[in-house]
Amino acid sequence: MELNDKAEIDTSQVEDARGSGGGGGGIGGLPIGGGGLTGIIVTVLLALVGGYFGINNLGGSSSGGSSTADNTTINKECKASDGSNQQAANATKLLDCRNVLYINSIQAYWAAELPKAFNKQYEKAPTKIFSQQVSTGCGAADSGVGPFYCPADNKVYIDLTFYQQLAKELGAPGEFAQPYVLAHEYGHHVQDLLGTEAKMRQEQEANPDQANLESVKLELQADCYAGAWAKGATGVADSKGEKLFKSLTDADIQEGIQTAGQIGDDTLQQRGGGSINPAEFTHGTSADRQKWFRTGYDSGDPAKCDTFASGAVKAGD
Ligand SMILES: [Zn+2]
Repeated sequence: MELNDKAEIDTSQVEDARGSGGGGGGIGGLPIGGGGLTGIIVTVLLALVGGYFGINNLGGSSSGGSSTADNTTINKECKASDGSNQQAANATKLLDCRNVLYINSIQAYWAAELPKAFNKQYEKAPTKIFSQQVSTGCGAADSGVGPFYCPADNKVYIDLTFYQQLAKELGAPGEFAQPYVLAHEYGHHVQDLLGTEAKMRQEQEANPDQANLESVKLELQADCYAGAWAKGATGVADSKGEKLFKSLTDADIQEGIQTAGQIGDDTLQQRGGGSINPAEFTHGTSADRQKWFRTGYDSGDPAKCDTFASGAVKAGD
């Protein structure tokens, strides 16, 4: 995977709420990733991004979470000083700027694809990059939930240190895991725009015993949308026609598939030391997550991501 250092970079699509230096110190009573098993289970069940649901579980007070965005640092890192959207030198070597470019690519993809596939205009959603804790339209959250999308304020939230967790604790070290995570979250934004998410919630309320299965369908669809973006990624260009990705190889796609496999509910339950309990699945098995990512990638057509079609995803999958 190679990003184009000549492509424009649009930092206005992110809100950097990490604060200067990220000092802050300890957070009362929130041992993030600390307690071995517990830390991992919490991370895992809500990661990738169960925060979509997990965030409601957090609920608690929003004390401590800084939510004020200040893009001064990220602008300096990523953008040339002439005020244009040209990249600063070496921007593509930096984690921050690479992630901005992933987000630019994903949103440009949907701006073109959503009208084609679903006859719907895309509306941009920012990604809020936070450190440790953040207040959101869905309540207060800490990094332990992993990245998530909040339908109430239409924002994606990520603490970029999650990637280290993905690499070290969850066995997905490949860099393509990063755009896959973001594309999955933007998949939830697309579901929000299309009304899929609201419909699924109604379905959950009407049939509480099917709530987890409905969640699995929503999550697998987001994986499929991520695959569709991956297929289209090398075609995405900036306003001057410069491609954002110079290359995306089979090895990258394999990393995406590997990541999907590492965060399936069955794999995570095993990793957490427990037995596999399909009734508790909320995101789908490793095999299903891989299958649906691949469905999106192979077809390059988000309309093929109909996990809600009768029989497409079965209970216990
Ligand atoms: Zn998700």
